[in-house]
Amino acid sequence: MAQKIQAIRGMNDVLPAESHQWEYFETVLRGWLHDYGYQNIRTPIVESTPLFVRSIGEVTDIVEKEMYSFTDGLNNEPLTLRPEGTAGTLRAVVEHNLLYNTTQKLWYMGPMFRHERPQKGRYRQFHQIGVEALGMNGPDIDAEIVAMTAELWRRLGLAGSVRLEINTLGNKDERAAHREALIKYLEGHLDILDEDGKRRLYSNPLRVLDTKNPALQEMANGAPRLIDYLGEESRRHYEGWKSLIAALGIEYVENPRLVRGLDYYNQSVFEWVTTELGSQGTVCAGGRYDGLIEQLGGKPAPGIGFGMGMERVLLLLAEKGLLPQRRTVDAFIVNQGEGAAAYAMQLAQQLRQAGMSVVQHMGDASFKSQMKKADGSGAAVALIIGENEVSAGQVVVKPLRAEQAQETVAAANVVATVSRFKAE
Ligand code: ATP
Ligand code: MG
Repeated sequence: MAQKIQAIRGMNDVLPAESHQWEYFETVLRGWLHDYGYQNIRTPIVESTPLFVRSIGEVTDIVEKEMYSFTDGLNNEPLTLRPEGTAGTLRAVVEHNLLYNTTQKLWYMGPMFRHERPQKGRYRQFHQIGVEALGMNGPDIDAEIVAMTAELWRRLGLAGSVRLEINTLGNKDERAAHREALIKYLEGHLDILDEDGKRRLYSNPLRVLDTKNPALQEMANGAPRLIDYLGEESRRHYEGWKSLIAALGIEYVENPRLVRGLDYYNQSVFEWVTTELGSQGTVCAGGRYDGLIEQLGGKPAPGIGFGMGMERVLLLLAEKGLLPQRRTVDAFIVNQGEGAAAYAMQLAQQLRQAGMSVVQHMGDASFKSQMKKADGSGAAVALIIGENEVSAGQVVVKPLRAEQAQETVAAANVVATVSRFKAE
């Protein structure tokens, strides 16, 4: 036997036993996105590498060590499997001029790729659902985005399992002033800075505060806070955002150390976190990125969005027992004997055209073994067809989930009979 080829580490198959859970989640997501007026955008999974370097930032975990980058040997072009969805979406918006005299509310969903150490809630291929609201200054849209995510938790039954953390990153000038003070502060703690901290000291000091190293927590907590460097406008934006969120009755925690792992954010940033998934606790993260569109060659326009890790939400739903049972069909057709297959196929078509889901047993097998399969399929009823039924123009309808006797009905009445037992 030839040697088996396996999937890439950290890249998972979703098998039928689980895929219905994804389908359930996606159905809820689609309805929710539509309710908030978002439209779907689908961009390629591969983009040119400089797009991500320029938008995510040179000195970030993603660009420094997580990207799947390669050279397209045919034309010597540097390419990357997308590690997130915002860069590609904005690239497309600029390329197709989607903000010409208008605003946009866009959503995307699909696989993202990051070369990280695989563990629970962290994979090398994972899936994000994300939205981008473009051309709006906020803070009203900033609040709607937060309210929208809160509504999703409510619809999924997760409202009690996640907590909202918010912060503001101010504007460019405010960050520059804070940065100067921060570097000074960090220089005073050179002796305890770890390798990451030293490397980022001058390139991205804000990210030093984002450290997960317990030895640095106290130092990070005492660092100059960006919020103390905010000017009037940024302060007003932040206060406006908070009062709108509060008016909607959404609870939040202000976390002055929330800086996000990507460089493009400014003003409002937020995360939804849970304590129920170990250290992979952030299920949704987002913020404002007013300079990004211009940075990608577009006419300046503000933007705000978020990305949600679908696997993490699904893990949380599973943990809480909030995922549906597998979907089953309405009817399973057991058939055997002269003319039974053709008769069964016609009947199956009629049922499907009437809105029912039907599996017909294919191939020869005894009634007994077909009945076993019918039972295992989870179908609401078995429709039994032998030679007698074919010649009499009838079908035996046997309820499989309800304690009811089987009935023999005329073929013309099968739709009405099965619909009485229809699976939901
Ligand atoms: P983390 O701090 O967990 O590494 P991040 O800041 O890198 O997250 P973002 O780039 O903001 O994450 O992506 C948005 C969301 O996508 C995260 O909040 C998380 O839910 C999910 N996510 C990010 N990386 C992974 C991964 N490798 N596997 C699964 N989900 C991920
Ligand atoms: Mg990360």
